[in-house]
This record gives sequence, structure tokens and C-alpha cells, in this order.
Amino acid sequence: MDDMNREEQNIFTAIDCQAAKTSMIVQRMPEPFIGCVIPAYNEADNLVSLIPLLCVQLAQLSPKYEILIVDDGSQDNTAEVAIKLAADYPVRLLQFARNFGKENALTAGLDHTRGDLVILMDADFQHPLDVLPQFFAYWLQGFDMVYGIRKGSGNEGVWRRYFSGLFYALMARSVNKVPLEANAGDFRLLDRKVVEVLNALPERSRYMKGLYAWVGFKTIGIPFQVEHRRAGTSGFNLWRLSELALTGITSFTSLPLRLSSAVGTLIAILSVLFGLYILLKTLIFGVDLPGWATLAVGISFLSGIQLLSIGVLGEYVARIFIEVKQRPSYVVDRVHDYATSVLQNKGN
Ligand code: UDP
Ligand code: MG
Repeated sequence: MDDMNREEQNIFTAIDCQAAKTSMIVQRMPEPFIGCVIPAYNEADNLVSLIPLLCVQLAQLSPKYEILIVDDGSQDNTAEVAIKLAADYPVRLLQFARNFGKENALTAGLDHTRGDLVILMDADFQHPLDVLPQFFAYWLQGFDMVYGIRKGSGNEGVWRRYFSGLFYALMARSVNKVPLEANAGDFRLLDRKVVEVLNALPERSRYMKGLYAWVGFKTIGIPFQVEHRRAGTSGFNLWRLSELALTGITSFTSLPLRLSSAVGTLIAILSVLFGLYILLKTLIFGVDLPGWATLAVGISFLSGIQLLSIGVLGEYVARIFIEVKQRPSYVVDRVHDYATSVLQNKGN
């Protein structure tokens, strides 16, 4: 975004904020406690520069705020950096015992945040800070959930865009009719009541984007330009994205199961017709020995379909298995809080 655009956006934001304060539909508390949750996996380099800027931005929204960094089993010194930052800024650290994945890091963040409203954002600068006043303005207006809609693709590859297009097309046909916005992610603001509902959901396989949509509430999307990741690399490769997509599909739609039933039914009908054809042919023309090719193709095709269906079924059974085991979604190794003197320095 060039400087001109940035300036325009700031003016727009200021007007927005003012309008929101004057035309309040829902009574919001005057100085809410803002909780900002940042899942971080090997983000030491980004956090050092992000936290001071984020604090400046949050302080403009409310004098009371804190940032909760969830260190998702990083191999670099993310936790040490967070602890150092906690000496100067209202930063809390929740360190996982190992890498549990972003969805679980977000879940832990929501469980532990103390905010009256909660902002979820990535540590890598892909979620621009100057959108936060707009998020806040909409919350003041009475929206319970405000989310960012990605414009531009950041450093996303072609295959990833294609893959996610396919995924959302499948999710759009979800039988549970959960309206998923294709370009919406985890960059969002949630009111405390939304957080409470999300925390109360008992499921272990958590596909957060689906859960945000499932809970409902008064929601609005705001477009934002995806920035490039500043330092480090994306933690999501093709394998992890496929895993996440499978979690999303199996938690929110039984369409694959229905598809395999439909394909099975179709093949059964075709087989009966083919059987009748062979019967008639034998009655009219007598026994015909050749035909092994038809047999071989038929058997291998049917075996393929059967294995595929068992695989689809297995995915759902595996999810049931995960749920009945009732293991926690994450294990916390250590928690580090900032001293109250940090708040006094910040005038909280
Ligand atoms: N992340 C995490 N655990 C992981 C992978 C990523 O907490 O196992 C965090 C990461 O530090 C970042 C956010 O989730 O703050 C988004 O991750 P990333 O930038 O790797 O994903 P992308 O932007 O490519 O979707
Ligand atoms: Mg990123």
C-alpha cells in the first residue's frame, strides 16, 4: 500500500471511530480491556519488532490492554524474546510443551485471555496493524465479531490458492450449512461473549474458521491487504494444509460420506444393468468365453472405489477416536506474566 492510500485509510478510520462512538446501538463499556492473542511458531525475529508497534496501536484504542503470546513449541528463542518483552510491555507468555498447531494455539489463547474483547492476529506482520481501529470501531457499533477479508495473496503460491479454492467449494456444500467466507482467516476481533461460547465447545479437532462461523452472532467482514511475511517462513506446508482441510471437512460436513454412498449406488445400478445385458447376450448368443478384460477392469475399478470409501469412512472414525480419547488440545509448559509495574509505566 503506498503512503497516499495509508493516509486515506487513517482518515477513514478516524471518521469511522468517531461515527461509531456517536451512533452506538449497543452500550459498550467506555474503556474495555483489550486482549490480543498471537500464536507464534518460530517468530522471535518478528515479535521483537511487532510488539512495540502493536502496543502503540492498542493504546490508541483503549488504555487497558495486554498481549498474550502463545509459543507453539518453537525451536527458536520465541519464548525468551516474549519474556524479555514482558519487562517493558504488557505481554504474557503461554508456552506449549511441544508444537500443537495454530488451531490449538488459538484455542489456548482464547482460554487464557482476560480481555473484554479479544483480537486474534498472526505474528508475521501479514495482518496489518492499521486495520485494528476499524475492527474496534465496529465493535463499538455493536458488532460481536469483526473479521478481516484478505485482498491480494501475500506470499501465497499458486497451488495454495487453487487448493483453498477447491476446499471452500466443498465446504460451501456443507450439509450443516455453515456459511464460510473463502477469504476470511483468523485475523479477527471477538467480543467476550463469543469467546465464552467458543471456549465452551467441547470438541478436540478444532477447525477455528468453521467454529467462528458456526457460533453466529452479529458479524461483519472488513477487507484488508495481506502484507508479506517479514521474517521466517510459513509454518504451513502442503501436508499441514491438507490435514487442516481434512479436519475442516470432517468436522463440518458429511458430504464425502454421502458422495461415497451415491457412487456406490450408481455402480450397483450399473452392475445390475450390465448383468442383465450379459444374461440376455448369453441366452441369445450362447456362452461367450472371452471377456477377461471387462472382468479385470471391473474388479480393479470396484476395488478402488471400495478402498476409497473405506478411507473416507476411516477419516470420520479417526475423528470419533480423537474425540472419545478426550485428551486436552494442548499442554502448557510454562506461563509468564508481566509485572504490574509494566502497567503503571504504561499508565494502565
Ligand atoms: N503458527 C503456530 N503454530 C504452527 C504454525 C504457525 O502458532 O504450527 C503461527 C505462526 O507463528 C503465525 C500464524 O500461526 O503467527 C500464521 O502462521 P504462518 O504465517 O506460518 O501461516 P500462513 O500465514 O502461511 O498461513
Ligand atoms: Mg503468515
